[in-house]
Amino acid sequence: MRIYIAEHAGYCFGVKKAVDMAIETIKDSENIATYSLGPLVHNYQVVNMLSKDGLKVIDKVDELDSGKIIVRAHGIPYNIQKKVEDLDLELIDCTCPFVKSVHRKVEEYNNNGYKIIIIGDREHPEVIGINGWCNNEGIIVNNEEEARKIPYYDKICIVSQTTNTLEKFECLSNILNNKGGEVKIFNTICNATNLRQKACGELAKKVDAMVVIGGYHSSNTNKLVEISNRYCNNVYHIEVSEDLPLQKLVKFNTIGITAGASTPDWIIKEVVDTMNNINNNEIMEAIENSLVKIHKGDIVKGKVIYVTENEVMVNINYKSDGIINREELSNDPEVRPKDLFKEGDEIEVYIVKLDDGEGNVVLSTRRLKAIKSWEELEEVYENKEEVECKVLTDVKGGLSVLVNGITGFMPASQISIKYVNDLTVYKGKTLTAKLIDFDKYKKRIILSSKEVEKEKLEKKREELWDSLEVDKIIDGQVERLTNFGAFVDIGGLDGLIHISDLSWYRINHPSEVVSEGDKIQVQVLGFDKEKNRISLGLKQTLPKPWDVFIKNRQIGDIVSGKVVNLLDFGAFVRLEEGVDGLVHVSQISKEHVNKPSDKLEIDQEVKVKIIDINEDDKRISLSIKELEESEEKNQTIENKDIGVKIEDVIKDK
Ligand code: SF4
Repeated sequence: MRIYIAEHAGYCFGVKKAVDMAIETIKDSENIATYSLGPLVHNYQVVNMLSKDGLKVIDKVDELDSGKIIVRAHGIPYNIQKKVEDLDLELIDCTCPFVKSVHRKVEEYNNNGYKIIIIGDREHPEVIGINGWCNNEGIIVNNEEEARKIPYYDKICIVSQTTNTLEKFECLSNILNNKGGEVKIFNTICNATNLRQKACGELAKKVDAMVVIGGYHSSNTNKLVEISNRYCNNVYHIEVSEDLPLQKLVKFNTIGITAGASTPDWIIKEVVDTMNNINNNEIMEAIENSLVKIHKGDIVKGKVIYVTENEVMVNINYKSDGIINREELSNDPEVRPKDLFKEGDEIEVYIVKLDDGEGNVVLSTRRLKAIKSWEELEEVYENKEEVECKVLTDVKGGLSVLVNGITGFMPASQISIKYVNDLTVYKGKTLTAKLIDFDKYKKRIILSSKEVEKEKLEKKREELWDSLEVDKIIDGQVERLTNFGAFVDIGGLDGLIHISDLSWYRINHPSEVVSEGDKIQVQVLGFDKEKNRISLGLKQTLPKPWDVFIKNRQIGDIVSGKVVNLLDFGAFVRLEEGVDGLVHVSQISKEHVNKPSDKLEIDQEVKVKIIDINEDDKRISLSIKELEESEEKNQTIENKDIGVKIEDVIKDK
């Protein structure tokens, strides 16, 4: 590392003179209080040193009745100087001769009727002091906008704060040149300032880094920082050697040093000595110690320096930068570095290796993602949460799935609550599952989507129980048939339709009415959650055969039926399924019948006449006899007609 000190760095003539005079004054004033009106220089270390020697800093002189007042290099307004004199205090005037000459100019031109314009910072003590020599009536401008707003005057006199840059002074005085009939422009920039700034700029162009020494609030030091930044990318503003950013500076081959006008030589020397020692082992060790310590497997934060097609360079605040190669970027081989990162991104990385052979640390975001994925899945497992997993393929005994970027296994028995016959249909599908076994160290994850289905079903069942109401009509699907009835799935719960509730007429087996898989509507007849029983009815959702029959038939109608029962008092004839009528023994024939079986037999098809309908008792009385009599009567009428016709034929012959 090579160190260059800029020419004219540090104390200017005026400040040096003021500091020397102050030291002398303190020495000569053993029993006399010595005051400085404001800090003697804009340098904390110097002010602190003088304070230890007895110099007190004050803002006002009003309350003093004795002692010595040191006026600093910046100077003071005329009225303050007058006040010190009136109070009969001893004035030690350390105003820089260059500043003093500005005071005189301003006073003279103000007296001659010129409007005084001061280019500078209105808060700076030097500018406040200058304005005090034209009754505080000067106009202060510090930028182009302010300069353009100045009204027109017959006569103007322009002066500058002594520490301004030449560029600024020239720019603003060019604008102000048009603001007066008669314009007097005095370049009152101190040559020392000018030379220091010029030397600073020249040096900044040549070196890798610039160190500017001076108070953080010193105007002239801040201007040096500004100039350095114009020509150099690495500028460090410090007040003392302890502020040196050694771990950053160690990387540079050439370093320039400059210092503000208030910076004493001893501070510059300390900084230079520290820099010269930067190559010492001790310092190197100190720097190393200040760097981040990393180990293989660590996760650290870093800042992306640049991104290329195949790699990402990251500053991890280590002595060497880290590199993420494309294969360490992501599990997805299609992803390019620029898809994920850009310069300046703050990222986390996993340390794969401390040296890739070329001095770079090998980093990985792919492995970091895997670590985080395992951590996230561990949380999911502990909290019994659900996860989405994508089926990669079917394997022996189950499915291989991808969950949060990690491969897991789902046994065939854990895929669904229903029996799964063909595993291949799941390939590419996304399933919601729970982790039923998890071991981060053995890298084992077992999943179950059946668990999720079970929980959903349980929830649905609960809702279903809550929604059940007796007499409610609901949808269902016939699941299976038994001799005593049909089991029906009503959306997660099974209910039973007893055989007697399947049909309004008597059946021998449920299959006479329904088949497995049939979608039907059923009525809730009753339920018991405790016993997990639901009674359903199918026939209750259908019209009753009796109602249908009596709606369509009336007394006198002749209908067909089948003899279904023979008793001593009569025969029961089935007119429709569920509707039987009685032919009383007296109504079986016009001839005398002892018992019904003499004339009728089971399953015999007969024609009967409805002779009565008792809706209240749901009884139908039938008669074969009346039908026979009617038929006989009709036969007689028919024969009678034929006889007439024969007689007529005989007569005609
Ligand atoms: S910078 Fe110039 S004007 Fe200001 S005190 Fe120093 S020598 Fe005097």
